[in-house]
Amino acid sequence: MNEKLLDEIRIDARERKIPILMDDTLEYIMNVLKNREINSILEVGTAVAYSAICFSKILSENGHIDTIEIEEIRVKEANENIEKMGLKDRINVIHGNALEVLPKMVEEKRKYDYIFIDAAKGQYNEFYKCALEMLNDNGIIIADNVLYKGMVLSDYNERKHRTAVNKLRRFLEYIQNIEGIKSEILDIGDGISISYKI
Ligand code: SAH
Ligand code: MG
Repeated sequence: MNEKLLDEIRIDARERKIPILMDDTLEYIMNVLKNREINSILEVGTAVAYSAICFSKILSENGHIDTIEIEEIRVKEANENIEKMGLKDRINVIHGNALEVLPKMVEEKRKYDYIFIDAAKGQYNEFYKCALEMLNDNGIIIADNVLYKGMVLSDYNERKHRTAVNKLRRFLEYIQNIEGIKSEILDIGDGISISYKI
C-alpha cells in the first residue's frame, strides 16, 4: 500500500474536519481484525474512504468491501481516493441512505465477516439490526463514536445533543441484551462497541 498517499488522505480529511477514524481507534480495530479471516466487509459511513482503505489491508486475497455513503460529494471523493490507491476492484462505494440500502442488502441475503458502523449516531439501532442479519457466524460488528465525547456515560442532558446521546444510550443497552451476541464497550477514541456471535 502507498502509505504516503494514505497519509495525505488522512491529513487532508483532518484539515477539513471530516470525522475519520481516530488513530488509537484504528490501531485497536486493526489489532482485533488482524488474526481473523476477513473476506467481506460492510461499512456504514464511507466519508472519503479513509477507514475503508485502511481496512483493505487486512482483507484476504479475494476479499471485498462494500461501503455506504449518503453524501454525493463524499462518494465522489471516496471513489477518487480508492482509484488513487489502486483499490477499485476491492472497495465498492454505494451511494445512498443506509436506512434504505441496508434492508435491501438484507433481502439480497448478503453476508459479511466484519461490519463497521460509523454514520448518523441517531440511527445506530436500525443499522445494527440489519447488520446482525448479515453477519457471518464468525463475524464481528464494530460501531464507532458510541460514547460521543464522554456524554453517553455521563449525566449529560443538555438540549444540544440530547437526542443523539439518548439514542446512543439505548443503543448500548440494546446491544448488551441480544441473545447469542456478546458486546463490549471500550473507552478508546470516541468510544467503540465490539460485538461477536457466541
Ligand atoms: N468511516 C469514515 C468516516 C465516516 S464519517 C472514516 O473513518 O474514514 C460519517 C459519514 O457517514 C459521513 O460521511 C456521512 O455523510 C455518512 N452518513 C451519515 N448518515 C448516513 C446514512 N444514513 N447513510 C449513509 N451514510 C451516512
Ligand atoms: Mg467515527
